[in-house]
Amino acid sequence: MTECKILDGKKVASEARERIAVIVKEIKESGKVPPGLAVVLVGDNPASKVYVGQKEKACKEVGFESFLHRLPEETTQQELLELVAKLNEDPKVHGILVQLPLPKHLNETEVIEAIRPEKDVDGFHPMNLGKLVAGLPCTVPCTPKGIMYLLEYYGIEIEGKNAVVVGRSNIVGKPVAHLLLQKNATVTICHSRTKNLEAITQEADILVVAAGKPHFITQHMVKKGAVVVDVGINRLESGLVGDVDFDGVRMKASWITPVPGGVGPMTIAMLLQNTLEMYERTL
Ligand code: NAD
Repeated sequence: MTECKILDGKKVASEARERIAVIVKEIKESGKVPPGLAVVLVGDNPASKVYVGQKEKACKEVGFESFLHRLPEETTQQELLELVAKLNEDPKVHGILVQLPLPKHLNETEVIEAIRPEKDVDGFHPMNLGKLVAGLPCTVPCTPKGIMYLLEYYGIEIEGKNAVVVGRSNIVGKPVAHLLLQKNATVTICHSRTKNLEAITQEADILVVAAGKPHFITQHMVKKGAVVVDVGINRLESGLVGDVDFDGVRMKASWITPVPGGVGPMTIAMLLQNTLEMYERTL
């Protein structure tokens, strides 16, 4: 059995948060307005409520101003766009996050495009995603940014490696694939129509999985010594599990992220980091 090490997102995220808290303390001591994050939650999606609660708590812990806007399920597109327009103009708000998914009657694309790119803390605005693809400075979506931070923290070599990303969403799969490409990996993106997936994953030196399917990646799909990043969050009766069969895959991998305690905490830490960076750009 290969000795498999843990990419400890909980620890790395906590260190990042402590570093941010020190910076915010200095900002406040100098008499300046602190960084402010506005979070908009529409409706009663239980998972969204949990995420928003975690984000608000994290903001307060590092000393940010947190502006939570809870809107009812029946909120209209117009009302939501008006709130976004107000937050765009509010000088105390440096980052705006509209928690997705929105209720079915609302148009997510239009809402994301209404956020000013310089306040688009999630990095989902086409302007930011476009700059990411072009390799220009931009706000990088929190989960992909957290994955790259974790790999860098543990000194995982990326250049020249075969990186395989399972999942092609705009929030995880596509951006993380581009970030790996920027670091000179040879990147393959797999998705639901990919044929013979396991033949591709077996070639991965770095395997990032964001498919939303519990225990989808099993031991025989992974190359010996691979670095495995599990983005999946699946709520089963037995608890929270990732997209990777952790117990099986750790027998072959050299590094692996646990769920929980891997990518999840990094996402929240990078949300704070993005807010701080947006704030600093306004100074
Ligand atoms: P999504 O549902 O938008 O996309 C899933 C992707 O998986 C699609 O591109 C699809 O083509 C691919 N896929 C589905 N079935 C497949 C199959 N059989 N073979 C290969 N590819 C397949 O998902 P998302 O928003 O990118 O999220 C993916 C997972 O990551 C979810 O579990 C989500 O909860 C989790 N997530 C976690 C964090 C975090 O902070 N840890 C952040 C975002 C998303």
